[in-house]
Amino acid sequence: MDFSRPRHIEAIVHRVRQFVDAQVIPLETDLLRTGADLSMDQLQDLRAAAKAAGLWAPTMPSEWGGMGLTIQEIVPVFEAAGRSLLGPLAMGCAAPDEGNLHLLHHWANAEQVERYLVPLARGEAFSAFSMTEPPPGAGSDPRMIQTSARHDGDAWLINGHKWLTTNGEIADFFIIMARTDMEAHPYQGCTLFIAPRDAPGINILRDVPVMGAKDFGGHVEIIYDNLRLPDSAILGEAGQGFMLAQARLGPARLTHCMRWTGIAQRALEIAAQYASEREAFGGPLAAHQSVQWMLADSAMELKMGRLLTQEAAWLLAQGEQARVETSIAKLQVSEIVCRVLDRCVQICGGRGISRDLPLSTWYEKARAFRIYDGASEVHRMVVARDVIKRYSAG
Ligand SMILES: Cc1cc2nc3c(=O)[nH]c(=O)nc-3n(C[C@H](O)[C@H](O)[C@H](O)COP(=O)(O)OP(=O)(O)OC[C@H]3O[C@@H](n4cnc5c(N)ncnc54)[C@H](O)[C@@H]3O)c2cc1C
Repeated sequence: MDFSRPRHIEAIVHRVRQFVDAQVIPLETDLLRTGADLSMDQLQDLRAAAKAAGLWAPTMPSEWGGMGLTIQEIVPVFEAAGRSLLGPLAMGCAAPDEGNLHLLHHWANAEQVERYLVPLARGEAFSAFSMTEPPPGAGSDPRMIQTSARHDGDAWLINGHKWLTTNGEIADFFIIMARTDMEAHPYQGCTLFIAPRDAPGINILRDVPVMGAKDFGGHVEIIYDNLRLPDSAILGEAGQGFMLAQARLGPARLTHCMRWTGIAQRALEIAAQYASEREAFGGPLAAHQSVQWMLADSAMELKMGRLLTQEAAWLLAQGEQARVETSIAKLQVSEIVCRVLDRCVQICGGRGISRDLPLSTWYEKARAFRIYDGASEVHRMVVARDVIKRYSAG
């Protein structure tokens, strides 16, 4: 691997850093101070500023106003955007829209591109990906999917119960996983449908309250009740649901790693600064070896996480599925980020717990990263299966 960074990417990273420092972090500080949630108007102002700075939709082609960057090129760009939780939202590269952009870009037909992808790419729409179901439905084990779609005349009737559908409060359309063939194995018998928000039969029960500050767009619980969709609502082909979900999830897991690495890096910088300025027991905290070790362990782990992310991104760019490498990166980075944030809160003491710094908010928000897009245990299972397959006798 070549570890050097092309000059044009270095320049973009620099501009993203400037944008996040000048436009995003002041708003983050203000929201933290007042305890208010980000409003749609504030987000649209930030998005207008990102577009004006030429920093909109890093992965989308230029004809839709994007930056046309590859999965390898976005690694440092997303990290720079991710230095604030608001950065990716401002630049059109936050989950789940960013994963849905990738999915639609590669699999939507011409009509779906016009109707769904172009408005999403331009920041004129929001989207949701609706796969997880409450027990006894599909969660860690997607084969347990219960949502069904059955042919009824010239349409499909979708019935099911989903939850934790991120962006569900604001999404203009939902990408829904449903079982279309009860006889086939779920991996071959499921299909993705795109449903506009106003389609009759999408009943949003509630925004599920989650740990920490409210996430923009929420995580909703939905009943799909005789949701009637035409054949043209199918993304890809009937039976391709899991193949497409996997194609979406691989890069989406890595982009989570990139963004969260930005948060953890900023946390480390905040903690190092506090440790250098705060005095205790006759000198700065940074003079105490146990504090130095917390900083050193965090810096080393972040470097390892970055390298794992870069390697998996490089493999994806070569056209590999990189299933195991993506699992390793997602598992390691999610756990590293939580450990780094924990140490940074510890170093900053009472100020780390207070809302005067963003650390406590990030600490709460990062916890879910070890669960969504595959819990750590599931990724360990993927890695273990690979090890056993490679090295078992015979
Ligand atoms: C903030 C947030 C946002 C989300 N956004 C979306 C979204 O937009 N769309 C969507 O479809 N879903 C979304 N999800 C759902 C998420 O993907 C699921 O929560 C995740 O896949 C785990 O499923 P589950 O919650 O049903 O956990 P379960 O399947 O009930 O598992 C519970 C726990 O059991 C353990 N476990 C599971 N399998 C194994 C195993 N093989 N070996 C050992 N232990 C195991 C793990 O510790 C796991 O955390 C979101 C979740 C959160 C928290």
